Amino acid sequence: MTTPDVRAYEHVVPEPRPYAHRAPEPASGAPRATPPRGGGGFDPETARRDIPVLHRTVNGHPLAWLDNGATTQKPRQVIEALGAYYGTANSNIHRGAHTMAREATETYEAGRAAVAGLLGAASPDSIVFTRGTTEAVNLVAQSWGRANIGPGDEILVPVLEHHSNIVPWQMLAKEKHARLLPVPLLADGSIDQDAFADLLSFRTQLVAVSHASNVLGTVPPVREMTALAHRYGAKVLVDGAQAVAHFPVDVAELGADFYVFSGHKLFAPTGIGALYGKPGVLAGMPPWQGGGNMIDQVDFAGSTYAPVPHRFEAGTGHISGVAGLLAAVDWLAGFDRDAVAAYEKGLLAYAEQAMAAVPGLEILGSAPGKIAVLTFTLAGHDPAEIAQWLDQDGIAVRAGHHCAQPSLRHYGVESAARASFALYNTAEEVDRLVASLVRLREQPAA
Ligand code: PMP
Repeated sequence: MTTPDVRAYEHVVPEPRPYAHRAPEPASGAPRATPPRGGGGFDPETARRDIPVLHRTVNGHPLAWLDNGATTQKPRQVIEALGAYYGTANSNIHRGAHTMAREATETYEAGRAAVAGLLGAASPDSIVFTRGTTEAVNLVAQSWGRANIGPGDEILVPVLEHHSNIVPWQMLAKEKHARLLPVPLLADGSIDQDAFADLLSFRTQLVAVSHASNVLGTVPPVREMTALAHRYGAKVLVDGAQAVAHFPVDVAELGADFYVFSGHKLFAPTGIGALYGKPGVLAGMPPWQGGGNMIDQVDFAGSTYAPVPHRFEAGTGHISGVAGLLAAVDWLAGFDRDAVAAYEKGLLAYAEQAMAAVPGLEILGSAPGKIAVLTFTLAGHDPAEIAQWLDQDGIAVRAGHHCAQPSLRHYGVESAARASFALYNTAEEVDRLVASLVRLREQPAA
């Protein structure tokens, strides 16, 4: 496949700027955390250089993209893959006897194999493409759930889940007269493991748990929770939407029955994501949508269905999205993932300390091992006002309920601001965030 000319946006990619750290003093008088820099196997500048949009300005300031929990920015390799697909190889897949159909099919299936590799799945046949995490959860709820959940059955869902890992189960429970049981959190935002063990029983059919919380950053002990759930014969679905970009994932090691994620939170395009299903589990599931591509034979007397994973991919899929996802997985594989995780950990420690120095600022969630997500409130300031203020300084954070209302209510709030980091964020951006928040605090009251 040839690469199209993408020089159109090259003018916005300047030489990397040197860091200019000016960390605020820690409030506690504790020694200042060391700002993480390049080195130790990963340099964020190598990632930044690949991502054109990080070099634009917003409201006259260099963009500081701290909204990675909502979506991540795209490397030029991903942007080029989309252009190359449409510029040189656009075709529908799995049908047609011509060269371009074959090439597009090869790209699509290479994407499936790349996702299997990303997740540590033994076979690409365990990977179903979906629109994203939300659609993948709904697929499991509608297919596996409708076939396996009955009256009196129980589904356990920790309080820290995203709405997309709560509402589909609530709908299923209502339809099937089953019960959805919330698993409570501890004060630091970790899942109460004693309560989890107490709630598990032979009525439990499913545990749906995040691999990383989008609000609190908590990384639950999914492997241990899965092993415990399996003792009761329950299946486990893991929502990896916030995990895949932050640390290496191995579904075989986790033992999970289902693992779901969204491409757009992994530097890939929107509208594409994946469901991993354990081979034995996936093969036993009925289709959830009918149409082309998912059939074996169709007759008015009845139809038979394709084997997995195609049985779950009715209609024309997001082929260019898969080309982009393939490029994103390849791009990420070019970094030492453990070094990336260590860098992000250093950035989190630096940001936690710097933000704690802002008077009136409170961070929600302090579970050990959390990902680099800092959801916070600032006394006297509405989260929406905080986000607008920061935007004036070119800093993008999100404000609201973050589609995780039960998580926020655990801390007695309905809304909060959130700075969420990715591998390309820097200590300099943290300094800008903190300096801007300090200036907001110093504003005379309106
Ligand atoms: N789960 C988690 C933990 C998330 O952070 C998100 C997105 N914020 C989702 C699920 C839903 O992802 P999508 O909207 O891409 O389907």
